[in-house]
Amino acid sequence: MSQPQERHLFIPGPATAEPEVLEALAAPIRPHYGPDFVADYNGCRARFQQALQTHNDLFLIVGPGTAALDAAFSSALPDGARTLVPVNGWFGERTAEMLRAHRCEVEELPFELGQPIDSDMVAARLAEGEFAAVAWVHHETSTGVLNPIEPICRAARAAGALTIIDAVSSLAGTELAVDDWGVDLCVSVANKGLAAQPGLSGISVSERAWAAIDSNPDTRGWYLDLRTWRKYDQEWADWHPYPTTVPSGLVGALDTSLRLILAEGLDERIVRTREAALRVREGLRELGFRMFVDDDYASPITTSAYPHPDLPVGEMITELREQHGIYISGGLAGLAGKIFRIGHMGRSIEKEETDLLLDAIARLLAHRQAQKENASVEGASV
Ligand SMILES: *Cc1c(COP(=O)(O)O)cnc(C)c1O
Repeated sequence: MSQPQERHLFIPGPATAEPEVLEALAAPIRPHYGPDFVADYNGCRARFQQALQTHNDLFLIVGPGTAALDAAFSSALPDGARTLVPVNGWFGERTAEMLRAHRCEVEELPFELGQPIDSDMVAARLAEGEFAAVAWVHHETSTGVLNPIEPICRAARAAGALTIIDAVSSLAGTELAVDDWGVDLCVSVANKGLAAQPGLSGISVSERAWAAIDSNPDTRGWYLDLRTWRKYDQEWADWHPYPTTVPSGLVGALDTSLRLILAEGLDERIVRTREAALRVREGLRELGFRMFVDDDYASPITTSAYPHPDLPVGEMITELREQHGIYISGGLAGLAGKIFRIGHMGRSIEKEETDLLLDAIARLLAHRQAQKENASVEGASV
């Protein structure tokens, strides 16, 4: 087997994990039931709740974040449920698409790419629209914009609508207070800000959400129905509080990462994430890049920027990967080729890592510019 070059993940998830997390992942496989494993599983669950700042029920679903979003939509929303979806990017569009697949009656409220969702406009629409729910993305990972949560939750409560948040990429990278803000269903994952292996998603469920779930006459499957998860959690609490086999390595890895982050302190982690984003934005600007998102709304979790005139985005991505083992992302859908994105998650927020990234980009640019100069000197001498 050839030895891969060391990978530096600056994509907006998954993130490079700490060595302790990888060690936990490689531990021998354990049975997924019985008091020992269940104690460890519940510890991991409690730490996930702590990260979300919630006392709401929390389930760790085996699957990507999308599975937990499916669980939220299918459990809480009956066929034809009127659902408002403020959209300011590709993940918002995807939320609307998922809800339509769940046979909800979706109304999209569009906002410009690179701009945040306007909570006043959402509140106004909620007040007049008789919606069963409002669903939106906290951090729109496709553009690097942070969306408001609390004011929309307040308006939704007043209007009697449930709040369903895709916090897949925001957890541990920015403030997220599920209970204080009154989020009814909140979804996140192991592998973005929490920097563990993909494969586990967390979903928190408020009292209000349970009331909606219990009055939902429709079911769209069994595994992702939160009633199934609650039943096992209650009836098999001591030895198997989930409906299926659970991967012990993924639970161990996630718990190890949660312990590291909580030991550092969630607030401290959020400060360090913001500092990493600021270093990268400043460094890119010094090199002549323009930011895609205004400083006022730029998220600390993903930096998006326009390509440098001397370096097309596709070539920048390929050369960073091939020459430096550095992985960054391009734009999605309509933004493909127009922007690039740098994630600030996991080990990539360390100063030595952001220095490495900025140095590699500086070298690529210097090389390009030297080539261009040579070409024009040669052109002049013909
Ligand atoms: C990454 C991401 C997802 C998809 O998560 P999966 O775990 O791949 O299902 C959904 N929403 C947002 C905002 C994301 O950043």
